[in-house]
Amino acid sequence: MSGRVIIAGLGPGADNLVTPEVSAALAQATDVVGYIPYVARVSPRPGLTLHPSDNRVELDRARHALEMAHAGRTVVVVSSGDPGVFAMASAVFEAVEAGPPEWRALDIRVLPGITAMLAAAARAGAPLGHDFCAINLSDNLKPWALIERRLRLAAEADFAMAFYNPRSKSRPEGFARTLTVLKEACGDTRPVIFARAVSTPQEEIRVVLLPDTTPEMADMRTVVIVGSSTTRLIARSGAPIVYTPRSVPA
Ligand code: SAH
Repeated sequence: MSGRVIIAGLGPGADNLVTPEVSAALAQATDVVGYIPYVARVSPRPGLTLHPSDNRVELDRARHALEMAHAGRTVVVVSSGDPGVFAMASAVFEAVEAGPPEWRALDIRVLPGITAMLAAAARAGAPLGHDFCAINLSDNLKPWALIERRLRLAAEADFAMAFYNPRSKSRPEGFARTLTVLKEACGDTRPVIFARAVSTPQEEIRVVLLPDTTPEMADMRTVVIVGSSTTRLIARSGAPIVYTPRSVPA
């Protein structure tokens, strides 16, 4: 019996942003594994077992998926957005690397999804049209000193930046510190986009200049995009357009 593990991205929230490839994989699955709110986005049907689990147990969840696949099941591991961006694909491969040799023989595939940063950028205009970086601001899986170092170096390199997991209730001070570091390091009034719950009924997009940002503008459902020094704001009657030109003069 040879099972499969498909690691799939469900996109930022809206059904029409789930790729046809991911929908087809879900239609064939015998089991769906993932964080509770993501598994809740999969419609139940006869023959499909849903295995929702808490956020803190990524590696256990990955091993569970691999065990079920080894037993012949067709397992879809779901993440929001893209599964390779701060999500389950790496957790599954960590489990494979540390696990029994037979897991390496399994058919394992990663199906991409639309990551939050790209969905948010599209709403605002084209803030990521020139060079950019993405940083996960959660210090659950790395030391805060490393986050702060990367922030300073990204500001020095004049990247536009996208921040995932900006601010949780358990550590609100991290994002306050991020804004302080950026205000010091950037030294100008670049636009900042706070994009909350993009493509869901709770969507809110807010564009603020860096000096006017405050920590409570972000929560865990927000992705934050900070422009580079060349990022432009086009004012108009509705929401402004934010874009970064394709070129930087020599
Ligand atoms: N794999 C996901 C990211 C997981 S980390 C992806 O590719 O999008 C979780 C973080 O993603 C959240 O804290 C938030 O910063 C961001 N995020 C996920 N969905 C979002 C949405 N619909 N709108 C805004 N941000 C979102």
